[in-house]
Amino acid sequence: MERVLAFGCHPDDIEFMAAGTLALLAERGYEIHLATMAGGEVGSPTLNSQQIRAQRLKEAERSARILRGYYHFAGGFDLELEYNNHYRKIAVRVIREVNPQIVLTCPPMDYLVDHEITSQLVRNAAFIASVPLFDCGVSITPMGKIPYLYYWNAIEGKDIFGRPLPLQFGVDISSMMITKEKMLRCHESQAEWLKYITKWDAYTEKMKQASKADGQRIGRQYGECFIQHLGSGHPQDNILKTILGDLVVETNASSASCGI
Ligand SMILES: [Zn+2]
Repeated sequence: MERVLAFGCHPDDIEFMAAGTLALLAERGYEIHLATMAGGEVGSPTLNSQQIRAQRLKEAERSARILRGYYHFAGGFDLELEYNNHYRKIAVRVIREVNPQIVLTCPPMDYLVDHEITSQLVRNAAFIASVPLFDCGVSITPMGKIPYLYYWNAIEGKDIFGRPLPLQFGVDISSMMITKEKMLRCHESQAEWLKYITKWDAYTEKMKQASKADGQRIGRQYGECFIQHLGSGHPQDNILKTILGDLVVETNASSASCGI
């Protein structure tokens, strides 16, 4: 069975940006793996870091189980991620353990530096996980080849200068919105946290708005847009198009600039 790994920064990033695509891949026989670099240690107004981390890891596991999938915690700490050898090794360890054909991660430019560092770490790990002499700290077989790598959209569909990302295509996830919402709702602590910060019960509404905006970029009701990493060494064909067929639609330039 082929595997797909969605490797985000915080528990709930994946549910916002790529859970619909994962649900479609699960339906087509892929084994689903979710991983996060950090454990969401600052995401609570009332619990301490250890308590909220413990709760968030459980929420992430529950969400992964909806797709009969697995959750992996890389062991990083919220707002303290760095592009260094410690995190490089643990990102490679997770990728070697899962041995995925496809990797999805945060975009290189996003609203939070932790997301951008996660993107760098995962990008690099996807490339070097097959280098036999790279020591990730545990004895595990290196990857046989470099996986397909995709970046999901940035939060609110914009980079730090307010520009839309150069999205290439979107996946029509309209048939999977119920599953996507069910996965997001596993992250109960974050719904409370967002309500505390925004004074608005916005959690699932924000996800729906973002999915709708990505849907508009491809002329469908709900979508998730992606950019494929096409650097040298990575596969150049779009395997998501091969697997998902007509559900994968190229973004058009006019709708890409509408923002949300
Ligand atoms: Zn996040």
